[in-house]
Amino acid sequence: MYCDFCQREMDNGIELLGAMICENCFHDISTTPVSSENYDYYKEMVKKLLKNYIYEKTILDPVK
Ligand SMILES: [Zn+2]
Repeated sequence: MYCDFCQREMDNGIELLGAMICENCFHDISTTPVSSENYDYYKEMVKKLLKNYIYEKTILDPVK
């Protein structure tokens, strides 16, 4: 399987908001300080995942 963040192949992924990410990315995301210039990048990625996640949930489990 491939990491949804860095697109690299991985053996063990962690599920985050319906996406699979590798341990490296998970570590990066959880340890990136707000002051880091990478923070915005991760924030956008998580936002994107969250949007897909909610979207898929809406399709699978439509509100009647
Ligand atoms: Zn990764």
